[in-house]
Amino acid sequence: MGTTHDIPVINAEAAWLPFTGNRAFKDNPAQRTLVSAKGAYYQNAAGQTLFDCLSGLWCTPLGHGHPAIVETLKRQAETLDYGTGFQFSNPQTLRLAERIAERAPAGLDHVFFTNSGSESIDTALKIAIGYHRLRGEATRFRMIGRERGYHGVGFGGVSVGGMVANRKMFAPLMLNGVDHLPHTHNLSEMAFSRGQPKWGAHLADELEKLVALHDASSIAAVIVEPMAGSTGVLAPPEGYLQRLRDICTRHGILLIFDEVICGFGRLGDWFAASRFGVTPDMICFAKTITNGVVPLGGVIVRPEIYQAFMTGPAHAVEFMHGYTYSGHPLAAAVGNTVLDLIDSEGHLQHARALEPVLENAVHALRDESSITDIRNMGLAAAVDLAPIPGQPGLRGYRVFEAGLQKGHLFRVTGDTVAMGPPFIAQPAEIETMTACLRDLIRSVP
Ligand code: PLP
Repeated sequence: MGTTHDIPVINAEAAWLPFTGNRAFKDNPAQRTLVSAKGAYYQNAAGQTLFDCLSGLWCTPLGHGHPAIVETLKRQAETLDYGTGFQFSNPQTLRLAERIAERAPAGLDHVFFTNSGSESIDTALKIAIGYHRLRGEATRFRMIGRERGYHGVGFGGVSVGGMVANRKMFAPLMLNGVDHLPHTHNLSEMAFSRGQPKWGAHLADELEKLVALHDASSIAAVIVEPMAGSTGVLAPPEGYLQRLRDICTRHGILLIFDEVICGFGRLGDWFAASRFGVTPDMICFAKTITNGVVPLGGVIVRPEIYQAFMTGPAHAVEFMHGYTYSGHPLAAAVGNTVLDLIDSEGHLQHARALEPVLENAVHALRDESSITDIRNMGLAAAVDLAPIPGQPGLRGYRVFEAGLQKGHLFRVTGDTVAMGPPFIAQPAEIETMTACLRDLIRSVP
């Protein structure tokens, strides 16, 4: 990038950083203090340039510092920087709801805005409970999530989530009445899968067992990521989501797709629901809707769900829920610009064109002895490394640290390396990224 930056004096002591090994961070804060970004690259306070292997946290696929987004931010800040969202709205937010509904799968047409993925999940769970109650089925209170699911960090999202490390410290705070489907990853049946595994549709039938156990009349909703991202890119087995859909429909259970990662192009379609041809009752989104520039999330619902709430006197609030920043005008304005850019710059096409490039590049690593699995779907891929005996996560952490020295910011969870390059990445950058990963895997002990 060639630009020089004033290297700030860093005192990290007062900060308590999220999902971070704070002590390790503070050993070398300059390396992990990002001071600027342009396109697919960051610059850190140590003066290094880093390729953004995960598009931020799956959220900046259009690249950093897009001039159209910067211009929108300036214009909107001058026009309407904030406007209360309770009993009021603004043109950007109303327009964005309309445009998201147009792009959502047919049958999903009302949008409730939040500020994050976690808030979107909690909102969807509340909508599910409220919907059943308003229809006279208040007995439906149970939520079914899935092992290895990640649905953010709200109490609802952690409860329905299935990432053990995120749950165990907070056991007393978990929601009542939550159960989990088994996850769909099975090494003996699907190791080194390209795209959707052929095996595993039958795992959706486990939902029938939970229905038999709890009775359908007690179950409000099932929530899954159509492609699980944070747990290491688990594509749904062929036919699995359709079976979940059928079982939910049969028993009057709402199906919620958490598309916080998938939504707005990661799988080459506006939504994973469109790519897989399965329409849920609600879609949760966040991240890419603003290219990560301003926090924004939301829930898209079927008209029947919205209509179920539209009862009682018209002056009364129908849904006792919302956030100070729900539908923030700045975020909504950026959202509208991002939709424009996805269309005008052809980002869905870019994501689709890069999918085979990423697939071939990651699967070329298969001969590395310390790799136990490689998976990909859309513009997302994951590589599992064999844990160092007795020290799970250490090999992955070493790869992450060494990657910074080699100019690549890899996202590592435990011993899994996830990659979700920006839609603006060049094929050569994807090749360089995976070649770098190969070197790292060979070089770390
Ligand atoms: N759901 C999924 C599938 C996610 O990947 C994430 C974040 O990575 C969330 C929910 C939570 O989103 P946020 O961190 O914006 O609260």
